[in-house]
Amino acid sequence: MHQNAGGKVGTLNKADVLIVGGGATGLALALALRKLSCGGLDVMLCDPALGSKTQGPRSTALAQGPWNMLDALGIASGLACLAQPISRMEIGEWRPGDPLGANLTFGGSVGGRPVGYMVFLRDLEAALHKACAEAGVRMVCEPVLSLTIHESSAFATLRDSAWRSRLVVGADGGKSVVATTFDSAPREWSYDRRALVVTISHEHDHDGVATQYFMEDGPLAVLPMSGRRSSIVWTARPETCSRLAGSPEALLDTLREILIPRLGQIVIDEQPATFPLGFRMASRFAAHRVALAGDAAHRVHPLAGQGLNLGLRDVAVLAEVVVDQAVEGLDFGSADTLRRYDEHRRFDVLSSGLAFDLLHRVFGARSAPAGALRRLGLQITDRTSALKRLLEAEASGVTGASPRLFR
Ligand SMILES: Cc1cc2nc3c(=O)[nH]c(=O)nc-3n(C[C@H](O)[C@H](O)[C@H](O)COP(=O)(O)OP(=O)(O)OC[C@H]3O[C@@H](n4cnc5c(N)ncnc54)[C@H](O)[C@@H]3O)c2cc1C
Repeated sequence: MHQNAGGKVGTLNKADVLIVGGGATGLALALALRKLSCGGLDVMLCDPALGSKTQGPRSTALAQGPWNMLDALGIASGLACLAQPISRMEIGEWRPGDPLGANLTFGGSVGGRPVGYMVFLRDLEAALHKACAEAGVRMVCEPVLSLTIHESSAFATLRDSAWRSRLVVGADGGKSVVATTFDSAPREWSYDRRALVVTISHEHDHDGVATQYFMEDGPLAVLPMSGRRSSIVWTARPETCSRLAGSPEALLDTLREILIPRLGQIVIDEQPATFPLGFRMASRFAAHRVALAGDAAHRVHPLAGQGLNLGLRDVAVLAEVVVDQAVEGLDFGSADTLRRYDEHRRFDVLSSGLAFDLLHRVFGARSAPAGALRRLGLQITDRTSALKRLLEAEASGVTGASPRLFR
């Protein structure tokens, strides 16, 4: 028995694993735990927004490794008709009258497969949600309000129910209740930038090319979506973002100047949205009976399009560690088990997050010497085939230390 937030007495429900948060990270983890344990683990997921995120322009690039995991979990084939393979990546400075100016080009495929795929986040989450329901994940539309950790169990109070589990995973995003409950010393700072995101339709084919233009105000990514559509992600000063988001005509005029030479006439498909940008890294990704995954553990600059890819790598590692213990009948929520996850992921994520932070500082710098250095760096990288191959392999997410689900 337990007392809920309104003071009512109710039943204490039980699950093996309670996942807090049903974004792409939480849903993918729930599915991976059910599938890898062949239904042996009883997985419960809670999120007040479950199933309601059917709108919104947010897109995401998925590297080959995470895509392999979606394939292993049985959803890549259904998602393929909504996804756009990335055939090539081009990076360069944009200057008026010199619209292309690509200084660095990635040749497209690693081991004969695309570097990655573009999907709308809403399509990915819908596919994961459906697969979770089919795989027997229990789901409720309620927020977690509080957590307490005891030696043998974690106890969670939701809005209308209470749960006891061997392990609770916080996948509840950048403002995670779970993270704030057990990690009091995260590293965090905000960038004086926002991301403006909008979907456009255009006259010419994009041929699967993803382009990153370095504009005076910050990087502008033009990401190929299925059909003759592209997702624009522009990292700019807050005042630029709110001016353009509030005036579709001004936004269209600006985008036309940049994109018409490549994509022909363009129209804006849906209302643009803007997002604050920040860096946040939990001081530990796990403790006895608790783990963090995805944005709850780390929030990184979106310049390299890797935030969710890191979160899905958390999923692959955590699912592997937990299920390996569970099938042996061992305690999968103990500090000893979860230390393996923490050690595997924390350094990797921290080094990636700091690398993206550095990229933001170099590519966000507006001075002429910084611009010259940037161009030189891109040109050197473009001409150094070993370095390019390494960057391509890293971007694909299938390098040597990949978790099993990524291969
Ligand atoms: C502009 C932009 C572009 C990006 N582009 C890319 C890209 O190209 N590639 C890439 O890999 N990454 C990209 N990212 C990052 C990526 O979008 C995020 O890393 C990813 O969406 C995080 O997923 P998540 O499931 O961890 O968190 P979220 O998507 O934030 O989901 C958290 C969930 O938890 C729920 N929740 C919150 N509080 C509670 C509570 N108390 N109880 C229960 N549930 C709760 C929320 O309702 C939500 O559904 C981008 C980010 C931005 C801002």
